[in-house]
Amino acid sequence: MTTTSFSRSVLQPDALPAAAVRGLTKTYGRGDTTVHALRSVDLDLAPGRFTAIMGPSGSGKSTLMHCLAGLDRPTEGTVTIAGVELTSLDDDRLTHFRRDRLGFVFQAFNLLPMLTARQNILLPFELAGRRLEPGARERVAQVIDVLGLRDRLEHRPGELSGGQQQRVAIARALATDADVVFADEPTGNLDSTASAEVLSFLRRSVTDLGHTVVMVTHELDAAAYADDVVVLSDGRVRAHLVSPTREQVAATLEAGAR
Ligand code: ADP
Repeated sequence: MTTTSFSRSVLQPDALPAAAVRGLTKTYGRGDTTVHALRSVDLDLAPGRFTAIMGPSGSGKSTLMHCLAGLDRPTEGTVTIAGVELTSLDDDRLTHFRRDRLGFVFQAFNLLPMLTARQNILLPFELAGRRLEPGARERVAQVIDVLGLRDRLEHRPGELSGGQQQRVAIARALATDADVVFADEPTGNLDSTASAEVLSFLRRSVTDLGHTVVMVTHELDAAAYADDVVVLSDGRVRAHLVSPTREQVAATLEAGAR
């Protein structure tokens, strides 16, 4: 039996938040041209959940995700992932933390064209100089099966469809058993069939493999795959909806747009 078939939140009911944000503030520019991208945001994201971050264009979604994922530094406030305060790490440690503990799925896939699907999936191990221990080998095999990539492993990205490429990117993000997987508009470059497929796989990575996924999206259809929805407006958290209905999400977004 593999413990990964259970959600981490079920295994650890008193677990720390997967990500905790306190007083997160991001300001661009100065004086008259100051832009307040995030205004003292407090947020806890539970482990073993799929959270969508939504809100109108310019509401701070990307800035929040970049600060959460250690890709950008906040002006003020703290970000803590699985008990580690990212904001206190120096650049080297932050880079290592991102590589070893976080997974990323971007709109543009970000696969290396010269590597096969298998090599792309195993790249984080390669970069970290880590050998594939038996536990990791088993997990990678499971991820490859869940994502239906077994017969595509020797293909290069150019020989794969957009949906297949994004599945490889998801497999790469899941391979290292990341504490949190961040997905930034992961279906932005996909048609509706491939989008549904990719979102189903992200969903399964949470339900079947126990991962924690945070996804920025502006599409209600995409957010419908998530457990929880955080709605931003003007750099603030307008609502943190736990297991909302589609109607509740739509109504909250509409209220924010008024
Ligand atoms: P969203 O992802 O919801 O569209 P962003 O987080 O990209 O919002 O942006 C939030 C605000 O911060 C916007 O007003 C945007 O113009 C501003 N902003 C984002 N990045 C920068 C930057 N590098 N320099 C100046 N302003 C920025």
